Amino acid sequence: MSDTPPPFAQLGLSAPILQALNDAGYEAPSPIQAAAIPPLLAGRDIIGQAQTGTGKTAAFALPLLTRIDLERREPQVLVLAPTRELAIQVAEAFQTYAHHLPGFHVLPIYGGQDMSHQLRLLRRGVHVLVGTPGRVADHLRRGTISLKGLSALVLDEADEMLRMGFIDEVENIIAQSPESRQVALFSATMPKPIRKVADSYLKDPAEISIKNATTTVSAVRQRYWPVAGLHKLDALTRILEVEPFDGVIVFVRTKSATEELAEKLEARGHAAAAINGDMNQPQRERTVERLKKADLDILVATDVAARGLDVPRISHVINYDIPHDTEAYVHRIGRTGRAGRAGEAILFVTSRERRMLRAIEKATQQPIEAMDLPSHEEVTDHRVSRFQGEIDKVLDEVDLAFFEDLLYRYSKERETDPLRVAAAMAFLAQKAQPLRPSENKTRERPHKAERSGGPDQQRPRRERKRDDDAAPLVVYRFAVGRSQGVEVKNVVGAIANEAGLEHRYIGRVELGDDGGTVELPDGMPKEIFQHLQRVRVCGHPLGLSFAGGEAAPERPRKPRGKPAPKGNPGKPRGKPPLR
Ligand code: ADP
Ligand code: MG
Repeated sequence: MSDTPPPFAQLGLSAPILQALNDAGYEAPSPIQAAAIPPLLAGRDIIGQAQTGTGKTAAFALPLLTRIDLERREPQVLVLAPTRELAIQVAEAFQTYAHHLPGFHVLPIYGGQDMSHQLRLLRRGVHVLVGTPGRVADHLRRGTISLKGLSALVLDEADEMLRMGFIDEVENIIAQSPESRQVALFSATMPKPIRKVADSYLKDPAEISIKNATTTVSAVRQRYWPVAGLHKLDALTRILEVEPFDGVIVFVRTKSATEELAEKLEARGHAAAAINGDMNQPQRERTVERLKKADLDILVATDVAARGLDVPRISHVINYDIPHDTEAYVHRIGRTGRAGRAGEAILFVTSRERRMLRAIEKATQQPIEAMDLPSHEEVTDHRVSRFQGEIDKVLDEVDLAFFEDLLYRYSKERETDPLRVAAAMAFLAQKAQPLRPSENKTRERPHKAERSGGPDQQRPRRERKRDDDAAPLVVYRFAVGRSQGVEVKNVVGAIANEAGLEHRYIGRVELGDDGGTVELPDGMPKEIFQHLQRVRVCGHPLGLSFAGGEAAPERPRKPRGKPAPKGNPGKPRGKPPLR
C-alpha cells in the first residue's frame, strides 16, 4: 500500500465489470488484485500467495469474467474451494461482479445439496462452476458435468484443501481438464504438496506473493475486538461513548460504507463525515479542514481517501473493516500517534479474519491485545460523569435564582422533597439521551408481584402505557398519618416501590393526623393489595383498605395535588438574580 495502486480502470477489465465494481463501492484494487489481474487477463497461469481477507476472490473472478463468452453455455471456469460456505461465497461474489453481464449463470455445487436440483440447474447451462472437490469429482464420475469447454481452473485456498484431505481429488480434477486451460492457484501458505501440484500442472506461472513488511508503530497502542454477539455499529458506538477521544478515523472497505456509516454515526449524535475517492480533491480538503478545526470529530474513510492524512488531533484509528494487507494496516494506524502524541488503534476482527490479525501482529512486531467492549455500567458511568460535569458548569456559570424560586414553590406546594423534584428534573434533562442505555426513557414497571414471579400471580389488569388508557382510579384508605411523622411522599414512595407502580399512576393523596386516603388504579392484584396492608411506612403498617368508591372522574389526573403555579416559566432570562 505504500505505492498508489493503479485504478481498476487501468487494469484492462471490461466495462460491465468496472460498472459492477463501481456499484459495489470498491475504490481501488487490493495489492493481490493489482498484481493478479493483468496476467490472468493475458491468459497466464498464476500462483498467488496471500492471507485471507486480501481480496483474492475478485483477483481471479474479475479477469475471468472479463474473458467469459456468454454465448457459450457450458462451464468455462471451475473454481475449487475447500468448504461449502466458501463455495457459496465465491459463487455469490461472481454473481455480484457479473451483475451487468446479461444471461450469466454461476452455480455452486457441494455435498449435501439435492442432486436432482443441481442437475436441473446444470442443464440450464452455466458459465462458472464453484464447487468442493468431493462433489465436483462425483459429478465427473457420473458424467453430469463436462470440463471439455473449460478455459480456466481456480484452486482457491489450496492449502486448506490439502489440509482437508482433498489433494488427490484436486489433482484428479486438474488432470481431467483440457490442456489449454489456464490455472490460478491461491494459497495462504505453500506447503510441499501444493508446490508439487504447481510444478506439475502450471505452465510458467506468474508468482505473486503479497509480502507482509514489518514495521514498528510504537507510539500507538493496539487493541482488537473479536466481533461476536453484537453488531459492529453497536460496538463502535459503545466504544465511542467511553473512549476519551479527540479526533477519530474509522476505516471501512468501500465508498458506500463510508457514507452509510457516517450517516449512522451522525444519527447517533456524533459529528461525523465520510471521506472517499468519489469526492474531488477540494471536497476532501474541506472535510479534512473541518476535522482539524474540530468542526468534525469522526471521519469515516477508505484507505485511498485517508492516504497521507496528517491531523495531529486524531487520537483514535478504528479499523471497522479489517484491511486487505498489513501495509494498509500500518498505514492506517500511522494516522494517529502523530506529533509526539499517543495514539490508539482498535481493530474489529471476525472469526474468519483471525489469520490476518496474526499477520498484522507479525508485521508490526507488536502483540495486539484483545479488548472487551465497555459494559452498560461503564457506559452509564461515563454518561453520569458527563452529566455531573454539565451540572457543575451550570452551577458555576448560570444565574439560577428564577429556577430555585420555581422549584422551591413547587416542592412546597406539592409537599414533595426537593431532592425528588431535582430527580424529576434530571430525568427530564436526560430523556432524549438516557443516562442508562439499557433502559427506556419511560420504563414501564410491572407490578412487583409480576416481577418477582410469585407462584399464583395474577397479571395486572392492564398494561398502562399512557394516562388516557390507564385504569380508572379508586379510593383506598390507609392507617398512618402525620402524628406518626408520616408525610405524603412517604406514602407515595412506599406504594410506588412496594406495588411496583409508577408515580404517575398514583392519584390524589389526602393525609390526616391518623390516616388518609389515596387514589390507586382499579384492579389491583390481590397479593399486592395484601402486601400493601402490611407494608410499613415510618415504622407503622400502612394498613391499606378499600374505601369503596371511585375517584372523582373529571378531575385532571396528571398533576397530582394542586394545579401548577401560574406564570411564565418559558422565559427564565430577564428575572433579576436574588442577590
Ligand atoms: P480472501 O479470499 O482473500 O480472503 P475475499 O475475496 O473474500 O478475500 O475479500 C474479502 C472482502 O473484501 C470481501 O468482503 C470483498 O467484498 C472485499 N473486497 C475485495 N476487494 C475489494 C476492493 N478492491 N475494495 C473493497 N473491498 C474489497
Ligand atoms: Mg477467499
